[in-house]
Amino acid sequence: MMMCKQATRLMSLKRDRPLTFQERLSLRLHLAMCGACRNCDRQFELLHQVGRHYEPTSEDDGERHEQSDDDPGSPGR
Ligand SMILES: [Zn+2]
Repeated sequence: MMMCKQATRLMSLKRDRPLTFQERLSLRLHLAMCGACRNCDRQFELLHQVGRHYEPTSEDDGERHEQSDDDPGSPGR
């Protein structure tokens, strides 16, 4: 049976790349019976969303007409 440490590793891993079927399955199984890791997964999700909101490109200075929201590689500054 998978341990919490492995479960959290998979949670952060899935932000970087899609998990394999087996990884997804073991993560889901673990989350189904481990409340601590369910919470942890939620935190990861929240952090991920918050991180998106505070990207430097979304800073608005009112003057710029070039929107580069879809291009995180060139903040323009
Ligand atoms: Zn766990």
